[in-house]
Amino acid sequence: MRKEVLKVDRITRSFGQGDQKATVLNGVSFTVGEGEFVAISGPSGCGKSTLLSIMGLLDSPDGGEYWIDGLAISELNAQARAAMRGSRIGFVFQSFNLIDEISVLDNVALPLKYMGQSAAGRQRRALECLKSVGMDDKAALLPSQLSGGQQQRVSIARALAGESGILLVDEPTGNLDSKNGDAVMALLQQLNQQGTTIVLVTHDPRYADMADRTIGLMDGVVVDARQGHDAGVAQAC
Ligand code: ADP
Ligand code: MG
Repeated sequence: MRKEVLKVDRITRSFGQGDQKATVLNGVSFTVGEGEFVAISGPSGCGKSTLLSIMGLLDSPDGGEYWIDGLAISELNAQARAAMRGSRIGFVFQSFNLIDEISVLDNVALPLKYMGQSAAGRQRRALECLKSVGMDDKAALLPSQLSGGQQQRVSIARALAGESGILLVDEPTGNLDSKNGDAVMALLQQLNQQGTTIVLVTHDPRYADMADRTIGLMDGVVVDARQGHDAGVAQAC
């Protein structure tokens, strides 16, 4: 059996107050094993990004517990949470979130600075990661000089830099045409084959099918993946 690396246990999350209160996650539970490639699918607005933000320690749940490597996140202090985020989580956003004023290389190296690595070590590691996504020849360029597909590859390199072993990927193909989208998905599959654990949020059933397993999300709870799929298709049509 695979070692369990992530455990989402009866997670709840609401926004707003009183009459305006909207419960987005209403008791979501599942686990992810080491080296697994899991897709989370469901219609737009069903809470996929909210869930992934909690899993990436960018947001906290109102209730339930989230575990990484068997550690209950609610029991960690702010410093330990930040350290966990840095060492165990790589996050890839739909909109790339690269800094336009600095080079591709510096974008990838930046997270390592906060982890206390030397300048030379950071540059070496950043170049290595750019190489692994086929972008090392673009290291000196600014992100704005790249296509969307290339920028997403760079943001994946940045997520790999910390050697977290876990990638949380939120609609990585959402801003890409199908050719670039397919290339990004092929890259994620390749990284998974090399051992990276991946949780991919997508409403595209074609991409969800590339994962080992799909978790459907609807009305704040986990549903049969097929149901989430169909809802995703309905939304897309
Ligand atoms: P998805 O990624 O599945 O499209 P989201 O997780 O982005 O869905 O959003 C789910 C719901 O939660 C939406 O109705 C959205 O408006 C709401 N929501 C998400 N984040 C916030 C927030 N910070 N404040 C208020 N409402 C939010
Ligand atoms: Mg979203």
